[in-house]
Amino acid sequence: MLEVLPKIAKLQASYVLGKPLALPMSLTISVSYRCNSRCKTCNVWQRPNDDFTLEEYNQTFASLGRAAYWFTFSGGEPTLRRDLPAIVAAAYRHCQPGIINIPTNGIQDKIIPARIEQVLQAAPTSEVIVNLSLDGIGEKHDQIRGVKGNFERAMRTYAGLKALKSRYKNFTLGVHTVISNFNIDDFEHIYQYVKQELRPDSFISEIAEERVELDTVGTGITPALGSYQPAIEHLQQGLRQSNQAGVSRITQAFRDRYYDLVKRTLAEQRQVIPCLAGVASAQIAPNGDVWTCCIRAESMGNLRDFDYDFGATWRTAKADALRRSIKAGECHCPLANAAYTNMLCHPPTLASVALEVGQNTLASATRKRLTPPGRMLPVVSIDKKLS
Ligand code: SF4
Repeated sequence: MLEVLPKIAKLQASYVLGKPLALPMSLTISVSYRCNSRCKTCNVWQRPNDDFTLEEYNQTFASLGRAAYWFTFSGGEPTLRRDLPAIVAAAYRHCQPGIINIPTNGIQDKIIPARIEQVLQAAPTSEVIVNLSLDGIGEKHDQIRGVKGNFERAMRTYAGLKALKSRYKNFTLGVHTVISNFNIDDFEHIYQYVKQELRPDSFISEIAEERVELDTVGTGITPALGSYQPAIEHLQQGLRQSNQAGVSRITQAFRDRYYDLVKRTLAEQRQVIPCLAGVASAQIAPNGDVWTCCIRAESMGNLRDFDYDFGATWRTAKADALRRSIKAGECHCPLANAAYTNMLCHPPTLASVALEVGQNTLASATRKRLTPPGRMLPVVSIDKKLS
């Protein structure tokens, strides 16, 4: 993870200057809109398909080189692509990512564990994180995800994935819950079930957002702060009480701050810390459009028009215009992928994480438990320079 630190200074300078001096360190690659779920919070499966081929990904990753540290292969349902391990292998060959993140709905229980095992073999030195989506328990999950029997299949997939853990030390198995107006009242139940029955390596929750990509703008799926806040604060209490060490403690400190960020974004309806989407993070749509993020889903250019050269697509006039709009605060959201990169590029947040981790490590060493210091998210106004 320390490898990202030298990149951060360049990305901060890019943000201040409004010109890209580097390629993004976090990339989300949506490999297809195809999906076998019919979630109440997502209509992406209705979008037309024009997916990149494996060779198109190969050329794109070759142009990226070692710039991106964190790859997310999303969808649709990414495991529907039989060539997902080959796509990951191409990314690994050219880009050597430190972290590869893959969400799954777990529906294809007879296929997914073997496909993920191929992914693990394709990227032996990357940390591979697979997050199983769980939006309810039992039939409630099936209702929200629109597929009868989904919960049972997801549990079989989870067991199959868990069995891989003893053979692959680079494998992290997580559970991911989207909190929407459909399950906000059940969140405590989901959390307890995950904690007591599934015991994953990590549990993350993301608030349901209205996204252009998912065709959910105007659907009213996002919970109000009044109902979200108590649910998430209980989760934060659990995070702070868990006695993690090393990298897990750092991850946990960032996650805690991410939840603070979500609450403040909902309350203040603004970028609470500067958003560096289009600078430090980006998304590639299945057809090769390069976006700053999936919330806006506005193309900087299509890789097919730039001979699969990511850098050329990254330096278009449209890309600069989008960066200006974001820097001017014309949008705000709690998108997790962008938020984690934003926190890494935000010196006050980095300093507060370092302080908390340092003090807790010291406290553990002296067998004393300290209250985490400086936990609340440090804020800078978006029109101030990063400093
Ligand atoms: S604030 Fe949200 S919508 Fe705006 S660019 Fe950042 S991630 Fe995208």
